[in-house]
Amino acid sequence: MKALRFTDWKTKPSLQEIDRPTPGPGEVLLKVAGAGACHSDVAVYEQFDETTVGPQLAPAYTLGHETAGWIEEVGEGVLGLTQGDAYLVYGPMGCGHCPACSRGQDTYCENAAQTPFLASGLGRDGGMAEYMTVPARNLVPLGDADPVAAAPLADAGLTPYHAIKLALPKLAGGGKTALVIGLGGLGQLAVQILKATTAATVIATDMKTDAMMLAESRGAVTVPAGDEQAARIRELTGGKGVDAVFDFVGLTPTIRLAQQVVAKQGRITVVGIAGGPVQWDFYSNPYEAELTNTYWGTMEELHELAALYRDGHLEVDVTTFGIDEALTAYEHLEKGTLLGRAVVVPHPASAEAGVASADALAAV
Ligand code: NAD
Ligand code: ZN
Repeated sequence: MKALRFTDWKTKPSLQEIDRPTPGPGEVLLKVAGAGACHSDVAVYEQFDETTVGPQLAPAYTLGHETAGWIEEVGEGVLGLTQGDAYLVYGPMGCGHCPACSRGQDTYCENAAQTPFLASGLGRDGGMAEYMTVPARNLVPLGDADPVAAAPLADAGLTPYHAIKLALPKLAGGGKTALVIGLGGLGQLAVQILKATTAATVIATDMKTDAMMLAESRGAVTVPAGDEQAARIRELTGGKGVDAVFDFVGLTPTIRLAQQVVAKQGRITVVGIAGGPVQWDFYSNPYEAELTNTYWGTMEELHELAALYRDGHLEVDVTTFGIDEALTAYEHLEKGTLLGRAVVVPHPASAEAGVASADALAAV
C-alpha cells in the first residue's frame, strides 16, 4: 500500500510502497477515509532533530496524526466493533494505565518517557496511508457523519476544543469576549467551537483576508493587523480587554498582541508552536491575567467534539488530495495557500460512497 513516510530528520516526507499492516491484539485495521495535514508535521520534518525532541519522534514512520476511517478488520480480543463503521482516531498514545491515561488524557501520560512513540503519526505509523492500525481504545464513533470532513476534528478540532474548555470559566455569562489569532486549520474550528459552546463575542485576526472572511461568515468580528489593531480590539470589548485569547501562531508579535489586549483576570492560551519568546514581569500583564500553553486534548473531549459535529454545530473546511498528492497537500500548507484544512483521501471512491450515503440519510 502507499504511505507518506517521514524517513529522516530535516528531510521532506516521501510517498513509499509498504506492506499493509496487520492489527495486533486489541487493535483494529482502519481503512483510511481522510488524514489531515497539520502544521506541526512541518515542524517535525523541517525543524526538529534528535537534539530538540525525544527519541519518540525519531523517524522512520508514516505521518498523519488526525485521521478518520472505516473498520476493515479487528484484531484478537476486540469486542463490539463492526466492519465498515466510521471512527475518528484519538492520536495520543500513553501507557494506558497511569492516572492521566485512565482519565483519557494520554497527552500527559506519567510514563511518557518509556513509551516508544508520542502518538499515531508522531512516532507510530499514522493515517497518511491506505490503511493503519489503531488500538480499539483510541476509536471515537462518527455514526453517519462524513469521515473525510471529520478527520481534522482529531487534532485541528480537539486542540482548540481542549483549550476553550479550560478557558470556559473566563467566558461564562454575558458580555464576554474571546480573541482567535491565526485562522488556519485550528483557528477556523476555534471560532466555531467558541460560537457553539459560549455566548462570547468572538474577535478574530489573520494576515489573510480570505481566512478572515470565512471567520466572519461564522459570526466572528475581524480586526486586521496594523498599528491600530490592539486599540481596535480593546474598543470592541468596551475597554475591558479580552477575557480569553487563543493564539494559534505563537510568534513574539502575536503573544505580545495577546498581552496588550487581555483583560484583568483574563487568560491567554498559546497553541501555536512557533516558539517566539516573550517578556513577562510583574508589570507586563494586567493583574491576574494568566499566560499558558496547551497540548492536544483528551479522549473524552474528542467524544464531546464528535457529538457537536454530529449534531451539526461545526462545518469543517477541507480541501481534499489523493494519496499520490499527499506531499502537494503539505506544500500548500507550507505556502499558506489553503483555506481550512488539507485532507488526504486514499480511497476516493469509498469516500464518495460514504458521503453519498450520509447525504441520503440527511435528506430522509
Ligand atoms: P495553519 O497553517 O493551517 O494556520 C496558521 C494560520 O495562522 C494561517 O491562516 C496563517 O495565515 C496565520 N498566521 C500566520 N502568522 C500570523 C501572524 N503573524 N498573525 C496572524 N495570523 C498569522 O496551521 P494549523 O495547522 O492551524 O496550526 C496552527 C499552529 O498550531 C501551528 O503552530 C501548529 O504547529 C500548532 N499546533 C499546536 C497543537 C498543540 O497541541 N499545541 C496542536 C496542533 C497544532
Ligand atoms: Zn497536529
